[in-house]
Amino acid sequence: MAIEWESVIGLEIHCQLDTKTKVWCGCSSDYDNSPENTHTCPICLGHPGALPKLNKKVLDYAIKAGFALNCDINKESKFDRKNYFYPDTPKNYQITQFDHPYAEGGHIDIKLSNGSDKRIGVTRIHIEEDAGKSIHAGEESFINFNRASMPLIEIVSEPDMRSSEEAYQYLNLVKDALKYTKISDVSMELGSLRCDANISVMHKGAKAFGTRVEVKNLNSFKGVARAIDYEIGRQIEEIENGGEINQETRLWDEEAQVTRVMRSKEEAMDYRFFPEPDLVRIVITDEQLERLQDEMPESKVAKMARFVDDYKISENDAETLSNSIELADYFEKVVISSDNPKLSCNWILTEVLRILKDNNKTIEDFSINSEELGEIIKLIDKGAISSKIAKKLFEIKLNDERSPKAIVEEEKMAQVADTSEIEKMVVEVVANNPKLVEDYKVADEGRKPRVVKGLMGQVMKASKGKANPQMVMDILIEKLS
Ligand SMILES: [Zn+2]
Repeated sequence: MAIEWESVIGLEIHCQLDTKTKVWCGCSSDYDNSPENTHTCPICLGHPGALPKLNKKVLDYAIKAGFALNCDINKESKFDRKNYFYPDTPKNYQITQFDHPYAEGGHIDIKLSNGSDKRIGVTRIHIEEDAGKSIHAGEESFINFNRASMPLIEIVSEPDMRSSEEAYQYLNLVKDALKYTKISDVSMELGSLRCDANISVMHKGAKAFGTRVEVKNLNSFKGVARAIDYEIGRQIEEIENGGEINQETRLWDEEAQVTRVMRSKEEAMDYRFFPEPDLVRIVITDEQLERLQDEMPESKVAKMARFVDDYKISENDAETLSNSIELADYFEKVVISSDNPKLSCNWILTEVLRILKDNNKTIEDFSINSEELGEIIKLIDKGAISSKIAKKLFEIKLNDERSPKAIVEEEKMAQVADTSEIEKMVVEVVANNPKLVEDYKVADEGRKPRVVKGLMGQVMKASKGKANPQMVMDILIEKLS
């Protein structure tokens, strides 16, 4: 019988905090990737005697991340030095938090394919500084220190994930939770969110985990899932072929879709951690915690649940609407002015999102404000315009300053609900289609509605889509019989 394998995955996520200045100095964090070291000073360049001082905003943002990931915040914690020599580390050590992180014991709940929840533990979050960047160009190498001492938090998960799908979901939910707090732009593409994965395999049901391998250089969400799948397959094959898994660090090669050894255990560095003597201990007060708790937005998970409950929309729709706080706010404002949640949801998810996608825009730049879209939806709801005309109105409104009501009036788009006017059109269509009318008379009950539909289409066409469909139908049936 073939052996069943189980994989064990833990993630380390680095998130760059979106503060205006770096973590220890006043250098602007708004650096570009120019090769010139324009965003540097003696502190972030590690000049002897320069003293770091913690940016208060960094701690505020980090605490918000702790709240968002359901962590306990430690009122006291400290910074430590992680010593290693590498060209892009100007001080030859990194300031991080070793044994006393500021946040611990959090969690994120993912959804399994069978619909049940699974809780993934967040072991800890700590604050640390980023390194500079080495740039290799042909024979030459350059070092850019603009990124040196940019504020980061590192979020370490428990080894609770058992597949690439679970890891992918966890990573996405962490991103969503952080994005809502507006402490980071959480973009893997831009490097403000980075992820390393610890992966091992064991026989299904085994108690002890196998030897774990750390995989780095995961630059996209899909890349994380692919690298994990590749690494699980590689480890199982290695063991089944009689080999052993070495405790090592591997790099994901996105182009070749394989992982390659970066350094083995023997090459692992001894970081000689010790407390950072140039920084005081971090002390967080109750007042600070209360203030930050008050500033926390409703979480995405809570918002989705509320949308499903209050507005009776599907979980999927609630999820899409909650993708950004701004879109969710827009939706709620449209509902206030339209008084029709379902129709508001449909219009935003189809028409509005389509326009935003086509023009690569976000809801903040959308030309129809929530009140105006609410007005369009109200016009449909009241039967003043058909949904077909509403789409035309929407297209016009995209580049028109007039109110939807004014456009409907001035462009004569209102639905015709005048009995005599509709009757006139019906009589004309009936007179011009003797064949269809004859057809209707001989048709059985099952076929009659189809014939009526054909005639109705002609009346609608004659009215340029403006006739009230229900009235057309009623009058047609009356005339035919
Ligand atoms: Zn600086």
